[in-house]
Amino acid sequence: MEWGKLTLAGAAGTRGDDGWTPVADPATGETVGHVRMCSAEDAGKAVAAAHTAFAGWAGEAPQARGAVLRRLAGLISEHTEDLATLLTAEQGKPLAESRAEVASAAGYFDFFAEEARRVNGEVVASPRADSRILVTHKPVGVVAAITPWNFPVSMVARKLGPALAAGCTVVLKPAPQTPLSALALAALCRMAGLPDGVLQVLTGDAATIGAVLTQDPRVAFLSFTGSTATGRLLYGQCAATIKKLGLELGGHAPFIVLPDADLDKAAALAVAAKFRNAGQTCVCPNRFFVHDAVYDDFLRRFLQQVDRLVPGDGRDPASTLAPLIDEAALAKVERHVADAVAKGAKLTRGGSRAAAGRTWYEATILENVGEDMLVSCEETFGPVAALSHFTDVEEVKASVNASQYGLAGYVFGRDISLVLKTAESLDLGMVGINAIHLGLEMAPIGGVKQSGLGREGGHAGILDYCEQQYLLVGL
Ligand code: ADP
Repeated sequence: MEWGKLTLAGAAGTRGDDGWTPVADPATGETVGHVRMCSAEDAGKAVAAAHTAFAGWAGEAPQARGAVLRRLAGLISEHTEDLATLLTAEQGKPLAESRAEVASAAGYFDFFAEEARRVNGEVVASPRADSRILVTHKPVGVVAAITPWNFPVSMVARKLGPALAAGCTVVLKPAPQTPLSALALAALCRMAGLPDGVLQVLTGDAATIGAVLTQDPRVAFLSFTGSTATGRLLYGQCAATIKKLGLELGGHAPFIVLPDADLDKAAALAVAAKFRNAGQTCVCPNRFFVHDAVYDDFLRRFLQQVDRLVPGDGRDPASTLAPLIDEAALAKVERHVADAVAKGAKLTRGGSRAAAGRTWYEATILENVGEDMLVSCEETFGPVAALSHFTDVEEVKASVNASQYGLAGYVFGRDISLVLKTAESLDLGMVGINAIHLGLEMAPIGGVKQSGLGREGGHAGILDYCEQQYLLVGL
């Protein structure tokens, strides 16, 4: 299949026969393309090829691997428009968000191109004069990467960048809703000179492919981003072969507005964080806790910003609110809003499907949200902001820390002491302090509790794809 200047191997524009499955545009319902339904046998062959390719790729000089990744980053930037329009076609988000995601992906490859040559070891002080202790890092081996549909380009880059830099080979299973972006990245990997077998993409049925990837002993590492429920299932499936795991799972981010916060900034960033990708991000705020003293002033500013959101087709530059990915996502949002209203929440804005098209939901504001509501304990993954007010920040901490999730959160305020103490007291892997957009390639991204294991990004990100080896050398 051709998309702009890209040739997507494993995809076809019109194929409707057996063994191929359509990819739908969430905005229109139209078919964007078809991808192969890879079988368990195909998955086994991909693992075998990745296993065969491993020694060669791991044996390349780190500078050589870095050079491929740097070329890849350049090619991604050069093909921004093709990648962004494809991303919007299969995922729905506004083109401006797609371009930002493509830039973020290029940033990951660029960063890990550099990190490839910084996988240093250590010489540990030996207890005896006639021995030396050396610690080295070796690439872990074949990596299985399973990625979600909400960031089809950058979530792939976040795994591929460090894995390839470390010297691992990768079998990638993208989400069935958004496989074309992954195939486009694979095309660019080939153009960048990535050797055969180092990256393979498997499209098709998740459970069939997932079973092979989690059970094959030749796969050393499973890197997964997605829901906590699926993460839990895959964790179990990996137990028999004791794989290393990197899991970036669900979240339930609090957005806390302290009484001395800059309310203009807090409201603007609250809207940007909440409604990016129509709330379909694992770090987007689920609950807003606003101090009584500033609640009304914050709400007024928040509503002004929300009222400016424009639901519409991502290809229209005026659109700022994306559709939801599918009917199931809409049904979940509707269930959460109905539950909150039934339990006494006030519906201040929205609360219905939006007129923009089949899978849009209105930007929705719920007030007086209580602890017993679904929006307070499950990820809504939609454009619904659930607000409550507080007098004592201790109540907020207790509520946040009672959650099974611990991915991200946000604290807005000016009293540095209170802000830092609040942020540090939260059981969260990442906290934005008067800031949003936490997903930076040089920072460790990940959660605690049932939000995951390990960190992606930063120097620690590449070490996750390595095993230490300790050498005791007698002289
Ligand atoms: P969502 O429900 O939002 O699609 P998931 O966590 O199920 O979130 O999806 C994230 C990724 O996990 C996707 O690539 C999806 O195809 C994959 N996935 C879902 N179920 C399985 C499974 N049983 N085995 C392997 N991968 C799976």
